[in-house]
Amino acid sequence: MLQALYDEKMEEFRRQFLKLHPYERAKFYVEQSPEVRKRMYEYLSPAEMAEIFDHLDIEEDEYKIYLSEMDPLFVAQMLAHMYADNAADVLNELDKKEVANYLTIMDDEAAKDIQGLLHYKEYTAGSIMTTEYIAIHANQTVRSAMQILKKEAAQAETIYYLYVVNEQRQLVGVLSLRELLTSDDDEMIVDIMNDRVVSVFVDEDQEDVARKMQNYNFLALPVVDANNHLLGIITVDDIVDVISEEATDDYSKLAGVPDVDIQHNP
Ligand code: ATP
Ligand code: MG
Repeated sequence: MLQALYDEKMEEFRRQFLKLHPYERAKFYVEQSPEVRKRMYEYLSPAEMAEIFDHLDIEEDEYKIYLSEMDPLFVAQMLAHMYADNAADVLNELDKKEVANYLTIMDDEAAKDIQGLLHYKEYTAGSIMTTEYIAIHANQTVRSAMQILKKEAAQAETIYYLYVVNEQRQLVGVLSLRELLTSDDDEMIVDIMNDRVVSVFVDEDQEDVARKMQNYNFLALPVVDANNHLLGIITVDDIVDVISEEATDDYSKLAGVPDVDIQHNP
């Protein structure tokens, strides 16, 4: 694969590289020299780079280095293709001026989604939620909900749950994919949805979110404001990161060693 890059064989590189799992692509990417990475930017689209960045687990300085290697327009397009929560994480590592710059050249809808996530305080539900969820209405049929699901599935962070909202976008129910698939086409959502929805508040501590997720064993939890408006969802893979962060944090405290890479204020 590296050879294909050295030999400037774009198609050959793409053929091999895109077969890898995104995690493996991300691993390959961070192991390369700046020169090789630059060739990768030439050979990959912003959407393909977005997949890599969605899987990166790196420090602040590294984001800065990688982004500075790319053309600003390419960065903006890549950020727009990332899940909004991950894109907001990346932007939170940059200077305000740079952030403003990227958001201006980005398409409006993506910029709005990401911007909405930038304001949430660190370690809260809001800071780890994403806005790509599937919302349906109580007064529609299973058939029409299926159509929405099909249309939005590619964009959604998870298709496992469909959240039912009213006209004011307040959360009124939830339905699992399995429940949708096993219902008759003509059935109304209101008749099959669960109306006792477990949710978390946007200001709630991420540790509480993790606990709720574990207790209820859901694969995702909806995030609402004080008026029960649906703002986003938190999926279990984001919670795995929280749990391992907190575990390192607690372990460091226990061992009496200074906490080097975790800046969680107790
Ligand atoms: P599976 O067999 O894959 O587990 P499932 O339909 O049982 O499919 P679960 O994830 O186990 O899906 O969800 C269990 C139940 O909880 C489902 O009825 C689902 O609609 C409901 N549910 C999902 N999220 C919430 C939530 N936030 N609050 C309340 N109920 C929820
Ligand atoms: Mg189940």
